[in-house]
Parts: sequence; structure tokens; C-alpha cells
Amino acid sequence: MSHPCLSCGACCASYRVDFSVYELDEAGGKVPSGLTVEVNGSTCRMRGTDHVPIRCAALTGKVGEKVACGIYEWRPAPCHELEAGDYGCEKARARHGLPPYAEVVGDRIV
Ligand code: SF4
Ligand code: SF4
Repeated sequence: MSHPCLSCGACCASYRVDFSVYELDEAGGKVPSGLTVEVNGSTCRMRGTDHVPIRCAALTGKVGEKVACGIYEWRPAPCHELEAGDYGCEKARARHGLPPYAEVVGDRIV
């Protein structure tokens, strides 16, 4: 069985994703600059995360069905920090009408 995140993606379509410009590939980091927008001299943002409806430009697929992060290995810090099952996860899932992560996972080891 695949990880529940692969049939979710709600957090990638719920929050503004801001991070340091030093994470950008053009500054020696890993995040592809082309998928970001400048906020100010020190902060940038994943493109699409300040639009309504929110949807990160790196997200592929359909939220709640089948999704993937197109830059998973190079995603910025906020994406590493949000963990499946934490408050931000559950809030995003609820926003998209998805059942709680804890309920989906149940006793499964993921
Ligand atoms: S909202 Fe939770 S379950 Fe859904 S993709 Fe994000 S971390 Fe995974
Ligand atoms: S970079 Fe990837 S993990 Fe982060 S919000 Fe965008 S699609 Fe989601």
C-alpha cells in the first residue's frame, strides 16, 4: 500500500510556502528557482502558494486522489518541517474535505 500522502497533497494546496533565498539553486541551494517567486531580498515563495485557490506549482496530480511533489528531493524547509499527522497536516486535510490522517493510517505502519 502506498503512503497516504500520495493520495492527498492537501498541505501543498493549503499554505503559503515561504523560505530563505539561500535555499534556491541559483544561490547554491537545491530548490529550482523557476518554481518560485521573490517576496523580498531574503525570502522567496513557492509559486502558486499565494494564489486562490492555493496550489504549489511543484504539485502534480489531483488533490485527494493521486499526487506527487515534482521536486521532492529539492523541496524547501517548510515542506520538510510539516509532518504527516501533525496539526498542519490535519488542518489541511480537513480544509480539503479529507478524513483525518490518524483515521486513514489507523494501525498501519507507514
Ligand atoms: S496533508 Fe498530511 S497526509 Fe496530506 S500530503 Fe500533507 S502531510 Fe501528507
Ligand atoms: S514543494 Fe513539493 S512538498 Fe512543498 S508544497 Fe510544493 S508540492 Fe508540496
